[in-house]
Order: sequence, then structure tokens, then C-alpha cells
Amino acid sequence: QSVKMIVGNWKMNGVSAALAQAEAIRDAVGTTGQGCRVVLCPPATLIDRMQSALAGSGVAVGGQDCHEKAAGAFTGSVSAEMLVDAGATVVILGHSERRSAFGETDADISAKVEAAIAAGLEPIVCVGETLQQREAGDAIAVVSGQVAGSLPSCLAERDFAVAYEPVWAIGTGLTPTLDQIAEVHAAVRAAIVAKLGDGARTAPILYGGSVKPENARDILATPEVGGALVGGASLKAEDFMPIVNAAA
Ligand code: 13P
Repeated sequence: QSVKMIVGNWKMNGVSAALAQAEAIRDAVGTTGQGCRVVLCPPATLIDRMQSALAGSGVAVGGQDCHEKAAGAFTGSVSAEMLVDAGATVVILGHSERRSAFGETDADISAKVEAAIAAGLEPIVCVGETLQQREAGDAIAVVSGQVAGSLPSCLAERDFAVAYEPVWAIGTGLTPTLDQIAEVHAAVRAAIVAKLGDGARTAPILYGGSVKPENARDILATPEVGGALVGGASLKAEDFMPIVNAAA
């Protein structure tokens, strides 16, 4: 079992003052890490300064999205190469908020993953069912379909992760049962291997959706859970560090 990966997704939260939280996380993690990989994904405007603050520490920096094209007339967008230039080594792609609020399809996300790989970023590709889809008994089919459609074949032999984030668990305080998490993660693994082959057996599958200090240990001990993608609880060091320590 490889080391767990704990990723903080700050979403559209954080101006300069928030760098103090990143520094507190850096100081708590130290240079040797905590026996797990830690990544913070701030808004794009903070990546450069956060990278400077975290350089040489056990905490890496990531983006929350990128454009599928390398450059050009795409007002307001940020390319994968720009994220790398600012100091990111990881990028979250296909978050449910991008899928629902920005209309991103599996094909869009697959193109972004290709761009991220071409730029040398490690993508974290998000999948997850809505409450309606779960209640209709479609969770496994939806998530498996998203994996098949959002992971381009260029991911074979590359470093990447998939994050299972049930939409109804994001920001709600609700979480699936550990059995439900294990069931979906097993299906995600099967879909990853079906798409990319046996080499993809080691790609971490993160769980996301209302991960907090109180539930992190149990979730991280669930079969096929290779880490956590943490939203609200990643904004403050005092909430995030117990989750990091639960993974160590
Ligand atoms: P919360 O941890 O705030 O539920 O958010 C989860 C998430 O969307 C992380 O990407």
C-alpha cells in the first residue's frame, strides 16, 4: 500500500492573508512529510506565492482547473503550462462544481487531462453521482461512466489520481457509509483498469465530500481509499492537520 495523498481544495476562497494558513500547514508537516503526500490547491492567483512559501517543504501546490488549450484567445482562462510556471505540480480536473456550474462534459475533462499531462502536471480527475442518481440506484453506473469518459488513454503509465466525490456529500456534512465508499471505490478501480490496463492498479483513488477530523481515520482505512480530497476543512490548519495526521 503506497502512502496516502491528502489534497486540500480551497475552491474560490483565499486572498493573501490565507497564506498564513498554508504556512501553518507547512510548519506542521515539516520537510520530511508526515508519511503521506500533502497538496494544497489554492485559487490560481495564490499559486505563485504559495509555491514560494512552501518551497522545500513536504507540501506541494496544485491548481483547481486548467484550459484544454496551451495558449490563445480564451479570455479569463489559465493553461496547464501557466499552472506549472506558477509552481503547481498537480491539477484538479472535472470537479463536480465544474461539471454542474460550468457545464463540463466527460469529453471536455478528458481534453483537459491530456493538456495537463502534456504540461507535466499530475491530474486528479473527479467523479461522483448526484443524490437523485444514487436514489435511482445508478451511482455505480454513473461513476464508472465518468471514469471511462474522463480518463484519456494517455494516462496509462502516467502519475494521476481519481477522486470519488459524491455530489450530495460535498459541503453538506453528509458522507456515505464506509461500505458505500468501499463499493464505489472498487467500481472506480475496475473502471480505471478496464480503461488503462493493469498498470493503473496503483493510481490512488481519493475520497472527497465532508471529510473532517472526526471521520478521516475511518474513511482512510477503507479498502481502495488512497487519500482524501478535502474542501472546507482544508482552509484552516487546525482542521486540516488532524486529517493529514490520520493519513500518516
Ligand atoms: P467539502 O470537504 O467542503 O465537503 O468539499 C469537498 C470537495 O468538493 C473537495 O473537492
